[in-house]
Amino acid sequence: MTMDYQSPLRLKLDRDALISNYRWLKQLCDGAACGAAIKANGYGLGAVEVMRHLLDAGCRDFFVATWAEAQAIEPLLRDFEGRAGLSVLHGVRAEDMEIALASRARPVLNSAQQIARWKEAGGGPCDVMIDTGMNRLGLSLNDLDLSLFDGLKVDVLMSHLVNAEEDQPLNDVQRTLFMQARGQIPAQRYSLANSAGLCLGRDYHFDLTRPGLALYGGIAHPACEGSIRPVVTPQAEILQRRTVCGGEAVGRGADYVAHRTMETATINLGYADGYSRIISGMGAAMKDGARLPVIGRVSMDLLSIDVMDKPELREGDWVDIDYDLSMTSLLAGISQYELLAGLGQRFDRYWV
Ligand SMILES: *Cc1c(COP(=O)(O)O)cnc(C)c1O
Repeated sequence: MTMDYQSPLRLKLDRDALISNYRWLKQLCDGAACGAAIKANGYGLGAVEVMRHLLDAGCRDFFVATWAEAQAIEPLLRDFEGRAGLSVLHGVRAEDMEIALASRARPVLNSAQQIARWKEAGGGPCDVMIDTGMNRLGLSLNDLDLSLFDGLKVDVLMSHLVNAEEDQPLNDVQRTLFMQARGQIPAQRYSLANSAGLCLGRDYHFDLTRPGLALYGGIAHPACEGSIRPVVTPQAEILQRRTVCGGEAVGRGADYVAHRTMETATINLGYADGYSRIISGMGAAMKDGARLPVIGRVSMDLLSIDVMDKPELREGDWVDIDYDLSMTSLLAGISQYELLAGLGQRFDRYWV
């Protein structure tokens, strides 16, 4: 028997904020369906819980990257037979076929080879990705052989925007190419927009949108500011409080030297948890409104904070970590996506 382990590291996840973000995005969709990208373990939050909450909020279309991710969450579809769907964005390799054919999830077929493989195996409804400028995954429109689609039951035909966070001509180029493809390739539904694309307006919504980042509190587009609420707060326990004398160093590499006697606390958070070393020197913990700066270098499992302003803090107390996604991203040069998806497995994730 294993005993219940309580990690000195937690991720506080706000269900109301997640649902409020979903509702805000959904109301922008103005009639189009609003799905959810929950790949990479729901951008680090935990795909099962995210999917459960979003199902409650009325979301019916989900997107993951791989079949391993699909297997972990497809039991949740059982109660929604035929009314909710899960798409696997990376399509089907030969190695995936057995799992894919037995799964409730649909593959998003990305190449002529994947389409041939799916048809040959007698696979059911599928999605198809076409490339309109990303040059990553998807069928190229240049030399598209339309006979590929004969006998294929396409539920969602989709494409992915390169850089909808910025107002630039490529958005419209991609939208125009997608409309052309829509005229040629029959499908039940058409889908182009991610979070940022959804903020570009009705012309980008088609039948179904696929936000990810904004659901989890990311400011995917300036329009999100003031409406999208933060969902994730890392929290760490103080393992030790120390007095550091002037002239002494704190942390690995002696990057920080105290210029006078000071009080520090060591907390259980490091770059192995996704708290990047680059945040050293600009991050902070928060306690009752007080900002407690990170000092010295972030280690693999530990970092130090300045607790001069909080004399009462001691071993065993908890602090919140300032994890404002857009500000941290701006200061540290780490994308909001990486800040979320990097959050590791040592956090106890809990929803409030
Ligand atoms: C990840 C992903 C999304 C969601 O993108 P966000 O920018 O996080 O909103 C949508 N569509 C596809 C194909 C994706 O891979």
